[in-house]
Amino acid sequence: MADAKTILVTGGAGFIGSAVVRQIITETPHRALVVDALTYAGNLDSLAPVAGSARYGFVKADIADEPRMDALMAEHRPDVIMNLAAESHVDRSIDGPGAFLRTNVMGTFSLLQAALRYWRGLGDAERAAFRFHHISTDEVFGSLGPEGAFHEATPYQPNSPYSASKAGSDHLVRAWHHTYGLPTLLTNCSNNYGPYHFPEKLIPLVILNALEGKPLPVYGTGANIRDWLYVDDHARALLTVVEKGTPGESYNIGGRNERRNIDVVRQICVLLDEMTPDPAIGPREQLITFVADRPGHDGRYAIDATRIEQELGWRAQENFDSGLRKTVRWFLDNRQWWERVRSGGYRGERLGLDTTT
Ligand code: NAD
Repeated sequence: MADAKTILVTGGAGFIGSAVVRQIITETPHRALVVDALTYAGNLDSLAPVAGSARYGFVKADIADEPRMDALMAEHRPDVIMNLAAESHVDRSIDGPGAFLRTNVMGTFSLLQAALRYWRGLGDAERAAFRFHHISTDEVFGSLGPEGAFHEATPYQPNSPYSASKAGSDHLVRAWHHTYGLPTLLTNCSNNYGPYHFPEKLIPLVILNALEGKPLPVYGTGANIRDWLYVDDHARALLTVVEKGTPGESYNIGGRNERRNIDVVRQICVLLDEMTPDPAIGPREQLITFVADRPGHDGRYAIDATRIEQELGWRAQENFDSGLRKTVRWFLDNRQWWERVRSGGYRGERLGLDTTT
């Protein structure tokens, strides 16, 4: 990707999408066009650091609106589409799976259909260079026992409405490559954490509750194991796959950082006690509160990232200790961002951004 390209990033106002867009603008010559419906998870504040760039654009649109996707592609002529638009929270998928099927399955279908028409209309050179990159999760592979790790050929065994909807979208992407020849790329990544993470997810929730002396809810006994990756490492991996990945292939992304949930929560407590001790709260570990386990809660996820490391030369730069410390520091230093999320202010006035159409 030496030449400047136009990358259409769906879900670019979300946690990972905004990290990808910030990286595109600050570290590459490419243009980023964000297409996002701005659901509760979409936050233009997360794009404020790059919103002033002439290489950045934003369009409010739903990926399930196929005519709109046709029109946007015709107007903006993307070289690459990165699909990060999704409903992404497992707990919400248990309470209301319909939105997950609509966006993750039907939305991906609409985007694929529009991309296929657009791609077929391109000239030979542009058609050969075009990529449709679908971003997915390791949760499609189900739950592991104490040994082993997910690799690219691991059979799909999704257990939650969220992971089932993502598995459905992955299969559509695969089929659009094998049936129609669309140059697709698929990535399945482990749990992300880092700056700009919406505070309904474990790590930011625990940071903010611990900061304020509130209970720290932990499902079951906290023995569930997740494989954590710093969000900027994920963004770098995604841009590496766009640049060097082979169409039709999939790549697993992970940082080899397996941790039990309870240990993650304890580590955050220790970091906050060190960085901002509060005598009124005392040692924050005493705030840990075990709550009834999530139904169908997967026991262990772990990613074997050998393929992307060996074939594409990507490797995570952040280990969990350094990444978690940076993340806690970011939440301490960026109170305005999360206070506006909590108050709902991020859904109203947009910090002076006027690029929304
Ligand atoms: P997120 O919930 O933070 O962001 C999703 C974004 O998509 C939001 O900006 C939202 O407004 C937008 N969106 C939702 N429905 C839309 C629609 N119909 N049309 C257009 N935009 C819509 O999610 P995230 O954590 O950034 O995850 C992004 C992608 O990465 C998802 O596909 C998710 O499955 C995958 N993933 C996430 C993780 C993780 O740990 N967060 C790990 C692996 C893979």
